[in-house]
Order: sequence, then structure tokens, then C-alpha cells
Amino acid sequence: MHIDKCPKCGDPGFLVKKYRRCGKPNCKCATGSLHGPYWTVQHHPSRFKPIKDCHISQKLLTGDLEERIKELLAKEQAGLI
Ligand SMILES: [Zn+2]
Ligand SMILES: [Zn+2]
Repeated sequence: MHIDKCPKCGDPGFLVKKYRRCGKPNCKCATGSLHGPYWTVQHHPSRFKPIKDCHISQKLLTGDLEERIKELLAKEQAGLI
């Protein structure tokens, strides 16, 4: 999902959702229920600059962004994406 303003650095970028495995053998993630979602904003400023990733903690997901994420998740659950 493209966003105009990263809540961390203020630059435009793409908000992506990631799931993680923590590596503990007895954890629920070992059987496939991964941890997450974790949100990351990927910035691709230009081909001359390195790609920058901002990790967005839950407390940065507020206001407008929170609304858009809710919409996105709702669409996903409804099978629209
Ligand atoms: Zn950023
Ligand atoms: Zn785990």
C-alpha cells in the first residue's frame, strides 16, 4: 500500500505487512501461526540511493494510517485482494 508520509521519517513509501518466526521450537509459530503482522515502510528514493526500511511499531499506527490499515485488512479477509 503506497503512503504519502511514513510515520517514522515522513518520506513517501510502501507500507508492507510481515510475519515472523521467533525460532523457539515450542512456540505457536513453529507450527505455522507466525507472529505479526509487523508493519514496515519500504522507501525506494531513487536508484542512486539505497533502499531504506522503517519498522513501524504499533503505537505509530494512528489516525489516518490506522484507518487505512483496517480497511486493507478487512479487504484481505473478504478475499478482495
Ligand atoms: Zn520511513
Ligand atoms: Zn514464536
